Amino acid sequence: MKERFMVLDNMKKPLAGQIFSIQHFCLHDGPGIRSLVFFKGCPLRCTWCQNPESWSPASELGFKDHLCINCRNCLSICPVNAMKTPGQIRSDLCQTCFSCAKACPSGALIRFGNCLSTHTVLKDLQPEYPYYRSSGGGVTFSGGEPTLSLEFVIQLAAALKQDQIHVAMETCGLFHMEEKSESLPESGKAIRELLSLIDLILFDIKLFQEAAHQQFCGTSNRIIKNNLAMLARNFFQEGGPMIWPRMPLIPGITDTPENLEGWGDLLAELELNKVTLVPFHNLGEAKREWLQLKPGPKLNTPTPESIEKARHVLARMGITCYDPGEEEWPPASKSSPV
Ligand code: SF4
Ligand code: SF4
Repeated sequence: MKERFMVLDNMKKPLAGQIFSIQHFCLHDGPGIRSLVFFKGCPLRCTWCQNPESWSPASELGFKDHLCINCRNCLSICPVNAMKTPGQIRSDLCQTCFSCAKACPSGALIRFGNCLSTHTVLKDLQPEYPYYRSSGGGVTFSGGEPTLSLEFVIQLAAALKQDQIHVAMETCGLFHMEEKSESLPESGKAIRELLSLIDLILFDIKLFQEAAHQQFCGTSNRIIKNNLAMLARNFFQEGGPMIWPRMPLIPGITDTPENLEGWGDLLAELELNKVTLVPFHNLGEAKREWLQLKPGPKLNTPTPESIEKARHVLARMGITCYDPGEEEWPPASKSSPV
């Protein structure tokens, strides 16, 4: 307890970041029992995204139609008449004050994202420390893309490392490593600082071909591939965080032989010979509706046979595939190569 408050008190100026969820007692996304901290803001727009509430870096208002009891509290409380009927929110008028969500008795109106300080996040995580320690677990930053909140995530990771907590980070891989990027001149330096505080990186790989990545994820994958190579070098040559690639398996999109072979070749070349295959589930569709986003295309979930086929393609290339939650994680300390 003494140690805990020493860390918080030493933190001179707590920073704040947009968090949309903190979940405890998670058994995936790294070794042991973990807490997952979900950051808002993502530079990608993957067609199959299951967390569209992570896309915007700002807090958002969502509406779950099936929970509305038509009490009309939201209409009367809105200071700018941004709703004509419950849940029909005019984005041009809404000031995201969230008074309606507070006044909603049924949970139909919900707020996605809160601007939390490092103090607040740590206070939420600290009661879980005994579980991390007894299980070899820790904290995983996810999202969204944690590196979009770079200074905040560095401060959070530094405080956790000071408490000797294992820190993992899931990333879409799109961040700027160049020391002198014109748009983000300090990002390269800050990313290196972050890497020095992270034990394990869960690196998402999706479409290998540039045009396909543009089509399904909305961005180029050039920087993502460069960053994967840089992180592999950083791990093998400089003792940086371990890299564990993960691929969502989406029938006809990511599970094609061309895509699997493209990634398989690159992973083998980088000596990253393990990957988690994450079967697609259509969990994001309802959330799109809550947020008044355009519906995504109809996508199939993979069959046991198609998953086996994908594993077989990668196994032929020397890559061992794991189901989510079945990974043989290294112990919660800096460890040997994948
Ligand atoms: S968030 Fe505020 S401004 Fe927006 S609809 Fe609700 S009450 Fe109105
Ligand atoms: S306050 Fe909530 S339950 Fe009541 S009408 Fe508005 S959205 Fe529906």
